[in-house]
Amino acid sequence: MHYWLVMPAAGSGSRFGAGLPKQYTPLAGRTVLEWALRPFVADARCRQLIVALAADDRDWVEVARRLAPGGNVRISTVTGGAERSHSVRNALAALSGQADADDWVLVHDAARPCLGSEDLERLLTRGAAHPVGALLAVPAADTLKRAHSDRSGAPVVESTVERAGLWRALTPQMFRYGALCAALDAALASKRSPTDEAQALEWAGKSALLVEGAATNFKITTPADLALAAVVLEGRLAHREQAPDA
Ligand code: C5P
Repeated sequence: MHYWLVMPAAGSGSRFGAGLPKQYTPLAGRTVLEWALRPFVADARCRQLIVALAADDRDWVEVARRLAPGGNVRISTVTGGAERSHSVRNALAALSGQADADDWVLVHDAARPCLGSEDLERLLTRGAAHPVGALLAVPAADTLKRAHSDRSGAPVVESTVERAGLWRALTPQMFRYGALCAALDAALASKRSPTDEAQALEWAGKSALLVEGAATNFKITTPADLALAAVVLEGRLAHREQAPDA
């Protein structure tokens, strides 16, 4: 099988003190974005990688040079949009004329540097066998509270949300090129901006398969997440050095 990779990387993101968007923050010898791209750059089944960048991006050039010193024809960039869904749609537009309607497209956040190869394999295998497509997700493990603000503005418990059947949606998410474009177009035309691709498909009446993935494939949101990601990635590197064939 083959697939195309779309990576929304146009968020201004939280800043971590270095004056950089989070996808360009240094992490375990690279940047968050390089770690997020790595599994796909290394995968021969991935035909092309389209990265959506902010209009005022100044950091990609350096990352591209490090990723492929001689220039990598498999990676191209587009300008992102106001919200994540617009950035994804712009990247999909760049595949027009190349991707067939039935081709699989994987969408993966630039802010998720710890995708494991086993999770990618499981998603591809299970997703390709499903009529709609699939996403990595993690079943909710904690007790969940709905909150409202008290008079001082502090969050207080309003109720406990039944967690059975609740999952946290991660990326990558994989869908057929034609169906994904149509679902995003319909959502954006009705002025609704889905926070992930599965939601756009959901609004189009299509239910994606949830494939359980590792919680370590989390999205970098705070400086504490960065420290945790460094531990995960350095642990994997150390494991590989001890068992190079693993
Ligand atoms: O903001 P959030 O963390 O949800 O962003 C998820 C991903 O979407 C990030 O990789 C971010 O760079 C990307 N994004 C984008 N265009 C936007 C907003 C976010 O490509 N307008």
